[in-house]
Amino acid sequence: MNIDYDVIVGGGSIVGLLAARQIAAAGVSVLVLEDHPEIGIPEKCDGLIGSGGLEALGIMPRLSMIQNHINGAILHSPSGKLIEINSSNMGVLVVDRSKLDLDVAHAAVKHGAEIRTATPIENVQDTHSLVRVSSKSGDLHCRFFLDAMGSNSLMAQGEKERIFQAAKYVIAGDWFQKDRVELFFDNNQTPGFFTWIIPTSERTAKVGAAGKGINPFRTLDRFVHERGGSILKRVAAPILVGGPIKNFINGRIIKAGDAARQTKPSTAGGIYSGGVGGILAGDSIAMAVKTGDLRRLVEYEKKWRKIFGREFSLTLRARAVFETLGNKHLSRIFDELALSQNTLKSLSTQGDFDFHSAALLKVLGAGTVVKILKTVAAAELSHLRPFQRSQS
Ligand SMILES: Cc1cc2nc3c(=O)[nH]c(=O)nc-3n(C[C@H](O)[C@H](O)[C@H](O)COP(=O)(O)OP(=O)(O)OC[C@H]3O[C@@H](n4cnc5c(N)ncnc54)[C@H](O)[C@@H]3O)c2cc1C
Repeated sequence: MNIDYDVIVGGGSIVGLLAARQIAAAGVSVLVLEDHPEIGIPEKCDGLIGSGGLEALGIMPRLSMIQNHINGAILHSPSGKLIEINSSNMGVLVVDRSKLDLDVAHAAVKHGAEIRTATPIENVQDTHSLVRVSSKSGDLHCRFFLDAMGSNSLMAQGEKERIFQAAKYVIAGDWFQKDRVELFFDNNQTPGFFTWIIPTSERTAKVGAAGKGINPFRTLDRFVHERGGSILKRVAAPILVGGPIKNFINGRIIKAGDAARQTKPSTAGGIYSGGVGGILAGDSIAMAVKTGDLRRLVEYEKKWRKIFGREFSLTLRARAVFETLGNKHLSRIFDELALSQNTLKSLSTQGDFDFHSAALLKVLGAGTVVKILKTVAAAELSHLRPFQRSQS
């Protein structure tokens, strides 16, 4: 059987395109198949990323790609208390995600990658010696297939766990601050997540809402209606908060980015952590093609877990606790944090936009936060006790 390409990448978004750039730069033949007719469209992501993260992905953002510079975050408790964190030293940017993807596509093509849009993949079969990739334009054969098809890939495999539906709008209004991201926590309105505002100018912002089992459009409509302004664009998109899937590699099929749930369990951000996944996967696949040694693929998974494994497992545990908190306890934790000037100062001066576990540990060190959490855990256990008795 003839090989058409050494590697076929499913999904022409940030992760698939970064992987294709790496593979092509190593002199290995690679084709990207993208479902949509245009790279970067529809734009589902808000494009919030640290400049250090972009640099690590080998992306130099053009000025026209940068929509805003963010200097801080305002966190709102369910009872209306505000906590402000200064992020002016973290280089946080809001970028135009469509332009970002397009730039990486150009870089991949410059190195020799081929991209076909409007080509949805219908089936992928690993025959052990090669992979058959079927689309409406026929079958193609490759040595390795990189699945970077995002949440579609998870859904296709019935992995619907920990996927929250999000509503994301672009709005015009005058009630937000140009350089502050705002997060509104309310475990009744948005259980397990929050409502967010990411300004792109003094008068425009990306706003969103997500939560377990809610209709996020109803929540976000109410939120915008209460504050005023016009909705210029409405998008629905799933966000992933479950942490990485068990295995990134299955024979000659490799997964990266959202398809491998490489998104932060705290905020569901995935440009940086998924992008690193795309780069590491691309490099390892290129090495496996060049050496003919499939064991080289394992390096990708090992390296990714070394960078993000502990971080993701800590934030997953914090998420599990957060999801059990009622608004009363959530508000009490905010009250404690607001009193702890030292914690707020260290969150501002030593925070890292891409790694949140250190910030969470600082929060645990503030005032009586641990005591509050212990009370919550005790309450949760007492709820479980009658159930445990009836099981015995
Ligand atoms: C509302 C929202 C806001 C977000 N905001 C941020 C943020 O501010 N910062 C941040 O870091 N992250 C953010 N994220 C997360 C971020 O968008 C993702 O983690 C990132 O886009 C993952 O990239 P990916 O390439 O793995 O997958 P995706 O971007 O989902 O791309 C998958 C690609 O595969 C294609 N595809 C799917 N099925 C097929 C098929 N059968 N055949 C061919 N192609 C197919 C799709 O068309 C798509 O182009 C946000 C996500 C959402 C939903």
